[in-house]
Amino acid sequence: MRVHGVDIPKPITEFTHCNFNATLTSNVQAVGYNIPTPIQMQVLPAALRHRDIIACAQTGSGKTAAFLLPIIASLCGGGRVGYNPCLPKAIVLAPTRELCMQIEDQAKQLMKGIPMMKTALIVGGLPMPPQIHRLQQGIQLVIATPGRLIDIIDKYVFDFSAIKCFVLDEVDTMLQMGFESQVRQITSLLPQTKQTLMFSATIPEATEKLAETMLKNPVLIAVGKPSSPSSGLKHTVLWVEEKSKKKQLFSLLSDPTYFKPPVVVFVDSKVGADLLTDALCTKCGIAAVAIHGDKSQEERSEALKSVQECRCDAIVATGLLGRGLDLVHVTQVIHFDMPSTIEEFIHQTGRAGRLGSHGSSITFINNTNKNLFLDIVTTLCPLSAVLPSQLLNSPHLIQQKTKQKRKRIVTEDTQGDRHKSQKGDVVTSDNLMQLLRDSKWRRRHRKSRIL
Ligand code: AMP
Repeated sequence: MRVHGVDIPKPITEFTHCNFNATLTSNVQAVGYNIPTPIQMQVLPAALRHRDIIACAQTGSGKTAAFLLPIIASLCGGGRVGYNPCLPKAIVLAPTRELCMQIEDQAKQLMKGIPMMKTALIVGGLPMPPQIHRLQQGIQLVIATPGRLIDIIDKYVFDFSAIKCFVLDEVDTMLQMGFESQVRQITSLLPQTKQTLMFSATIPEATEKLAETMLKNPVLIAVGKPSSPSSGLKHTVLWVEEKSKKKQLFSLLSDPTYFKPPVVVFVDSKVGADLLTDALCTKCGIAAVAIHGDKSQEERSEALKSVQECRCDAIVATGLLGRGLDLVHVTQVIHFDMPSTIEEFIHQTGRAGRLGSHGSSITFINNTNKNLFLDIVTTLCPLSAVLPSQLLNSPHLIQQKTKQKRKRIVTEDTQGDRHKSQKGDVVTSDNLMQLLRDSKWRRRHRKSRIL
C-alpha cells in the first residue's frame, strides 16, 4: 500500500478500531465483514477524520464499504446542535444506474435498524416524479448518476447546504469529457466545507492531477500496483481475426474445460450485443441475455438479476457492465471485443475474481487493437498471462517499445541535465541559463531590484 499526504492517520486492522455504534457494528458483522480489506484499513481512519481522499485499489477490493461506512458512522451522530434531519448529508455519484443501485443496496444493509436513515436513488431510466418526491422526504444519503441529478436540480430547488460528504465512485470515468462538467455543476451547489472522497481501480496521472484540484489537503492511497487487474485472475489472450471471433467463442463455450458459467462476454456495440446473444441462444443452445444502453431499465435489471440468480449462462454486455458491479457468481470474463483503453479492460476483467476469489479472463485480439499492444503486454506480463506469439512478435509492439524506450531516454536525459545543473558540477550551453536562474546572484539581484 502506498500512501501520500500530510498528517496521515495510522491504518486500522480491525473494525472495532473505528468505534462504530452497536447497530452499525452488528450490521458490519451481519453482512459478513470480519476484518477490513486493505483499502478499508487505510481509508476508514482517514475518512472518519473528515480528510479528503483519492484512493486507487483493484476492482472488487471493498471500495464501496470504504466510503459507505464513514458516511453512515457520521450520520449515526444525528441530534447534534444544528443537525437538520430533513436535509441530505451525503451524495455518492457513480457512472451507471446499475452501479448506483448496487451501492444503494449495500448502504441499506449497513444502515439497517439505525434511526432516521433514508436513501434516495436518483438515476435515469426510472420515472422522475417518485425520485423528486423521495428527495423531499428527509433523506440522508443521495446515490445518483450525474445526468439525472442535474435534470432534477434544474427543475426543482433542493437544499444541499447540509452536505458533509461527496463521493465520486469510478472517478476516472466521472472526470472524463461528458461527465466532468456535470460533476462540476453538482459540486458548485455543495458547501466548501464538505469532505470529498474519490475512488477507482484505475486513476491515470491526468485524472489524478485534475482530481487533486477538487480536493483539500488530500490523502492519496493506492493498494497494490496502481491500475492493474485484480490478482487471482488467470489471463489468456488469444489471437483471433475478426471473422473468426464467433466461431472461436462458440467453441470455447461448448468446451466444459474452458466454459465456466455464468460468463460475461464484453462486446463493443449494442447491436453486436443483441446479435451475439441471438447467435448464442440459437446456435449454441446457451441461455444468454444481452445488456446495453438501448434496453429499457426493466430489461437491464432483469438481465442482471438472471446472472445474479444463475438463471443464465452468459450475459453479453457493452461497457455498461464494465464498472463496479459485484457479480458474485461470475468467475469468467470474455473480451470478445477488446475495449478501446487498457483502463476499461482492467475494469471489465474485474467482473470476475472479486475480492481475491479466483477467476479467469479470455481476451480476443488482432491487429484492430494494435494501439493497445504495448499496454496489454506491460499490464499482463507481470501476471504470468498466456500471450499469443502474434502479439509478442508483432511489428506494432516492437515499434511501440522502441518509441517508449526513446521517450524514456529523453526524459532521463532531461532529468539528468536538471540534476546536474542543480548540483552545479557540469556547466554546458544547455544548462547555463538554468544555472543562472537558480543562482544566488540572480536571487540577490532580484531582491535588490525589488528594494
Ligand atoms: P466492492 O469492491 O466494493 O465492489 O466490494 C467487493 C465485494 O467485497 C462485495 O461483495 C462486498 O460486499 C465485499 N466486501 C467489502 N468489504 C468486505 C470485508 N471487509 N470483508 C468481506 N467482504 C467485503
